[in-house]
Amino acid sequence: NNKIRVGIVGYGNLGKGVELALKQNNDFVLKGIFTRRDTSLIKTNSKIIHISEILNYKDEIDVMILCGGSANDLPEQCPILAACFNTIDAYDNHSKIPDYFNMVDDIAKESNKVSLISIGWDPGLFSINRLLAQAILPKGQDYTFWGEGVSQGHSEAIRKINGVKYAVQYTIPIKDAIEKARSGNNPHLKTREKHKRTCYVVPFDFDHTDAIEKEIKTMPDYFLDYDTTVHFITEEDFVKNHSKMPHGGFVISTDINENNHRQKMEFNLSLDNNPEFTASVLVAFARGVYRLALEGKKGAFSIFDIPLSYISPKSGKELRKELL
Ligand code: NDP
Repeated sequence: NNKIRVGIVGYGNLGKGVELALKQNNDFVLKGIFTRRDTSLIKTNSKIIHISEILNYKDEIDVMILCGGSANDLPEQCPILAACFNTIDAYDNHSKIPDYFNMVDDIAKESNKVSLISIGWDPGLFSINRLLAQAILPKGQDYTFWGEGVSQGHSEAIRKINGVKYAVQYTIPIKDAIEKARSGNNPHLKTREKHKRTCYVVPFDFDHTDAIEKEIKTMPDYFLDYDTTVHFITEEDFVKNHSKMPHGGFVISTDINENNHRQKMEFNLSLDNNPEFTASVLVAFARGVYRLALEGKKGAFSIFDIPLSYISPKSGKELRKELL
């Protein structure tokens, strides 16, 4: 009866993924899904609650799993919720993580709660692998490749262009670069050599696609430094062939030591559905939040601060016997 009581905040792809993942983990109980939208419009068999009522659940929820978007939702919601709940989120704006951590840390220390930030696969499991590689092979080199998969950020950037109805962008790692990284020769790989970008765009008007293509290919930060291919397709084709959310990638770390011995570590993910997998990572690490909170810890934490045994439902004794 000591189940971990959780709430989900935000019912998008990630929120739905957490709802699904909880069904496979019977040490949790879902107390409710909180949304900003009209609750009558949301279809689910779980209990759905308007977010305006969330503070009434202070004593009923051990961990709030925040599933809002990183761009706008989490910077607004996490500080408010960290003042009253233990939280976990998948904040993935890499360059802003240090500031986000500090902001949440101040609030959670004040409220005596635990907030675990930026959990998922990148940031998340890939970060753990980069840390392992750098600690174990300090003179080595590590490379991260993403894809083949859908980048939500790049897809959104295309959707904002005038004349675009729907769009999806696939990030594709270049095989030759992966092989060079694996070789252990510590190659220097330029941005353009590591990944290429392929876009599928449904235009409002097929006679005016040149301007859209030019705007995509010259977009700084997003596309300018990459070889980008743009395909214009029909809405029917888009719905049929481009509605999935696959992703994945590699963290490859290599070293050549003084004895001229090559050592390579490699971690690979291949995901049919990115948000569902990310949600599974969130649920496992929600155990870590719960355990830190039971120990009286407070403040913000990152994936580096969670002992691995804390994310498993098994006891230390079971883990030592079965997995060491
Ligand atoms: P979504 O856009 O699907 O959902 C974000 C929020 O938008 C939801 O919480 C929901 O809030 C609202 N929303 C969802 N659907 C609708 C709708 N139809 N109409 C109006 N509002 C809607 O984003 P994802 O769930 O795909 O991703 C969330 C974040 O997860 C991403 O921003 C990304 O940063 C992060 N992420 C991190 C990863 C990692 O490895 N660390 C990997 C993958 C994602 P509400 O219910 O309150 O309206």
